[in-house]
Amino acid sequence: MSNIVAIVGRPNVGKSTLFNRMTETRKAIVDEMEGVTRDRHYGKCVWNGIDFSVIDTGGYIENSEDVFEKEISKQVLLAIEEADVIYFMVDVETGITELDDTVAALLRKIEKPVIVVVNKVDNNERRNEAYEFYSLGFDNIFFVSSMSGSGTGEILDRTVEVFNLKPEEEEIEDVPKFTIVGRPNVGKSSFLNALVGEERNIVTAVAGTTRDTINTRYKKFNKDFFLVDTAGLRKRSKQMENVEFYSVMRSIRAIESADVCFLIIDATLGIEGQDLNIFRLIQKNHKGLVILVNKWDLVEKDNHTLKEYEKAIHKKIEPFTDVPIMFISALTKQRIFQALEMGEAVYENRRRKIKTAELNTLMLEAIENTPPPSIKGKYIKIKYVTQLQTYYPAFVFFANLPQYIKEPYKRFLENQLRKNYNFNGVPIEIFIRKK
Ligand code: GDP
Ligand code: GDP
Repeated sequence: MSNIVAIVGRPNVGKSTLFNRMTETRKAIVDEMEGVTRDRHYGKCVWNGIDFSVIDTGGYIENSEDVFEKEISKQVLLAIEEADVIYFMVDVETGITELDDTVAALLRKIEKPVIVVVNKVDNNERRNEAYEFYSLGFDNIFFVSSMSGSGTGEILDRTVEVFNLKPEEEEIEDVPKFTIVGRPNVGKSSFLNALVGEERNIVTAVAGTTRDTINTRYKKFNKDFFLVDTAGLRKRSKQMENVEFYSVMRSIRAIESADVCFLIIDATLGIEGQDLNIFRLIQKNHKGLVILVNKWDLVEKDNHTLKEYEKAIHKKIEPFTDVPIMFISALTKQRIFQALEMGEAVYENRRRKIKTAELNTLMLEAIENTPPPSIKGKYIKIKYVTQLQTYYPAFVFFANLPQYIKEPYKRFLENQLRKNYNFNGVPIEIFIRKK
């Protein structure tokens, strides 16, 4: 299931201000990893216990001052396809502009929920002016000041209400869900075809729960899983000018719906910016990951090629290097099934639950041998650790002075966990709490 909000609107109405506010909420709650640069356009928000993604579409436009109407329209159209709720942001300071009318015309045609966010309503006088936006013809309209935060809570309440209105998804929880992601032309469709292509009889397309998601059930050779296929895998990509925006928008839904993602990269090009963006999306959503270096048939090889290639990828994805990397060819079907098996192994790793007693024996000993450094003469003690009952591995360490346990030590804790248990391909979340 995915919950995605896209914020659309012309430049300068305050989209990124609202985006920051929404994604900060979550940051405060989950202590998002320090030291990792936050994505400025894609983030997670949690409100009343509901987790969802937020995309600031405008963030992907460069030189947003003189952006063309055409470009905005394209982004709106894509946002409409990929998001579950659309925030249409306008600005009371300027009133309704021509560009607002263009966007409104696109949004009026759709079935998905649109919430009009009239921003910069900083005081009562402005509230009176804001009524003009009712003329845009949408039912859901909210007056806010993104800068001060006033009114934003009501929007989030409404958003969560809308998510809850969505029909219940079919219960397919116990069957692993895999998805194939990567930028255009790396070989996603070829990989999918190599797996299921010529053998249509063994797969059944189960009409997706959300309109654009198709789950293909794969049952063969003792395997049983869903391949989450989305609009994101379709070809239209090549016409999009803003490739980064495109690949993020297209990947999010696929990633959110899956347990494990196969991130395909092109062996002839190596791993670079766009691949890394998708890599981060996968991590941020706590999904399992297998990196597949495709088109391996095209690479001239000697004894060292594979190891060197692997090293180069590890360097790029530091510090999250505990990820399986496989070298495949969708064309010759080299290692295609091993790739699948690796996906299954990662699925198991992601579900791994460790008994509390065992966890404490092991971790407290490691902590005793390498205690957290004392700060300002203060003695820091970790007393207890437990694994949360989440879909992905998350651990809470209880300490007397949690605020003094910093990123390097958290990494030490994570590495200890990885050393003792197989979490290959799976992001781990570490929380430190006061006890
Ligand atoms: P974007 O281009 O739509 O992402 O807009 P920004 O978030 O960058 O905001 C554009 C400008 O509007 C910035 O100077 C913000 O400080 C300002 N701004 C954003 N929200 C508010 C608000 O609620 N009230 C006022 N007065 N200014 C705001
Ligand atoms: P997508 O856009 O990621 O779905 O990529 P496609 O599956 O359409 O593949 C893009 C191009 O790469 C096509 O011309 C494929 O034939 C080619 N291709 C895909 N996988 C391989 C491979 O393993 N080896 C070689 N040599 N070509 C491949």
